[in-house]
Amino acid sequence: MNSFTYHMPTKLFVGDLCGYIDEFKGFGKNAFIVTGKSSAKNGALKDLTFILDKLDIKYTVFDETEENPSVANIETAASKAKATCADFVIGLGGGSPLDASKAVAFLAANPSLEVIDLFTPKNISALPLLAIPTTAGTGSDTTPYSVLTCHDKGTKQVISNFLFPAKAFLCAGYMEDMPDSVTLSTAIDAFCHIIEGYLATKSTYMSDLIAEGALRGFAECLPAIVGRNFPRDIREKLIVLSAMGGVVIAQTKTSLPHQMSYALTYHKNIPHGFATAVFLHGFLNIHKNKEKVSKVLKCLDVSDLASFKELIDKIILPDLKSQGYAFTKEDVAAYAGALAAAPERLANYPYPISLDEITQIYDSGISNITL
Ligand code: NAP
Ligand code: FE
Repeated sequence: MNSFTYHMPTKLFVGDLCGYIDEFKGFGKNAFIVTGKSSAKNGALKDLTFILDKLDIKYTVFDETEENPSVANIETAASKAKATCADFVIGLGGGSPLDASKAVAFLAANPSLEVIDLFTPKNISALPLLAIPTTAGTGSDTTPYSVLTCHDKGTKQVISNFLFPAKAFLCAGYMEDMPDSVTLSTAIDAFCHIIEGYLATKSTYMSDLIAEGALRGFAECLPAIVGRNFPRDIREKLIVLSAMGGVVIAQTKTSLPHQMSYALTYHKNIPHGFATAVFLHGFLNIHKNKEKVSKVLKCLDVSDLASFKELIDKIILPDLKSQGYAFTKEDVAAYAGALAAAPERLANYPYPISLDEITQIYDSGISNITL
């Protein structure tokens, strides 16, 4: 067995948020909440502010987090956090507010730094961070990563300074009124994390066992996902599986489908999970470790790659095909060329891969979602 390390320091609390009031003690008397607009509608912000009021903790709410938050959006949030002299940061919402909260926690603790500085590894600390995910997908609650949209680079990029939340609260109750398209796109993101982490260069014996367990858990949820039927017990399983996906990629990082997806989200605004799943079949098809690919199918109780594609198509195509996305040959050539020219973005695929092969995965994924 190869040597490896394992580090996932986030303490998880699963179930009703208001059952964990005491867990918010000990971080200071002034909180900065980074969220979006939906937390005011799904009850999460009300529960959180109830808890903070009860503990006599002051708070400021920044609810302007963009989807796929941009550098400028983080700059705005961070300047507010600095102005309030926050003691700690709470990320509340989907992956966008959670990722934003990590960058804000660094910047509020290091007032001389700008967002752009976070893209260079630095020996810096951050304000303590708590995470309350309201989507079951990104696993940002159990990863140290923060993905930001960089308009100057024309893509999304992970910041180079890593921060795990100290605690994360997984409460499925906030997802009851979530539109099916968000439930599906976020669930398939978690599914991609598990598969990509399992087939990544940095996968380990331990991350593989976690991934195999999570894939079996997903197999239990797939009929509900395909049937777009999300009773409470399925949502409870999905938020735990999302956190498990985070645990896997916290060790392994993601692989080709995530790297390929960034162009689709940046240029065509395709939701993150759907954009990633577009390339999942192509990734499994090209992957040279056939034994591990077979194991993925076995854990999912799927007979072969054709049936796997059918399954993914049932989940993603109804939403994607109805949008009428259009791509030119030049688009595909530009996306593939940019990825092939960035070896660091390919490093987590364990084998050499050519521009032709990348183009082939882009071509087959994109032609599948266009009319
Ligand atoms: P999101 O962008 O956070 O949210 C998608 C949409 O769902 C938004 O309109 C949001 O509204 C809404 N929403 C959130 N919670 C809801 C709820 N409970 N009920 C109803 N609507 C709700 O989407 P996401 O897929 O969770 O996160 C995507 C981001 O995470 C991307 O930037 C991606 O790159 C990143 N990501 C990070 C990691 C990591 O390891 N850190 C891993 C994968 C992906 P509001 O925003 O207005 O609240
Ligand atoms: Fe993701």
